[in-house]
Amino acid sequence: MLDDSEVTRVLAVAAHPDDLDFGAAGTIAAWTARGVAVSYCIATYGDAGGFDDTPREQMPVLREAEQRAAAKVLGVDDLVFLGYPDGAVTASLDLRRDISREIRRVRPQRILVPSPERNWERLGASHPDHLATGEAAVCAVYPDARNPFAFPELLADGFEAWAVPEMWIMAGPRPDHYVDVTDTFEAKLAALQAHVTQTGHRDDLAEMLTGWHRLNGQAGGLPEGRLAEAFQVVSLPV
Ligand SMILES: [Zn+2]
Repeated sequence: MLDDSEVTRVLAVAAHPDDLDFGAAGTIAAWTARGVAVSYCIATYGDAGGFDDTPREQMPVLREAEQRAAAKVLGVDDLVFLGYPDGAVTASLDLRRDISREIRRVRPQRILVPSPERNWERLGASHPDHLATGEAAVCAVYPDARNPFAFPELLADGFEAWAVPEMWIMAGPRPDHYVDVTDTFEAKLAALQAHVTQTGHRDDLAEMLTGWHRLNGQAGGLPEGRLAEAFQVVSLPV
């Protein structure tokens, strides 16, 4: 596994606005505090989300703004939305190419991706869009982004091949790395609260998150009461 000091750029890939905040906001806040540049690549505008009678055509606009506000809380201001339809994401060649372009633009040492594998213990985390975005992102990491002959239009546009050395998988069935986020938990909560259309009706958000992250802390063997985010880390040859 890379030492954190070897990481200066991270690309975080997700299906929907709020996925990164639920899965990794505490970790992202710790990285940016250390000077790591974190970029987001989000496949959809989350246009199928929400819980009330907000006019549907407003939803993508609101959710992009919410995600930008949440990112700002964590010190992230480089966000790209790919504009795929919420609820209908597939691991298509188009999505692989679009994520490859972002990998080649950002040239990260570490990439955060949703799990392409279904987690039967937390089915809500395995939304089909998450699985599809995860699959496309893993294919983009290996082999597309590192192969100069894959998607030749990218090279023609000046995006040179880039081999990502390390992948962190969110919400998968086999977490093996636990980040203590006790000190950045307030920032995570604030980022999630910026997603008003998603969390505005949840009075129990802090309580729910605290319980969930405490369980992660226990699973990771952290001291009693510490809060953690969980990942599976995969190292790749470069
Ligand atoms: Zn989602």
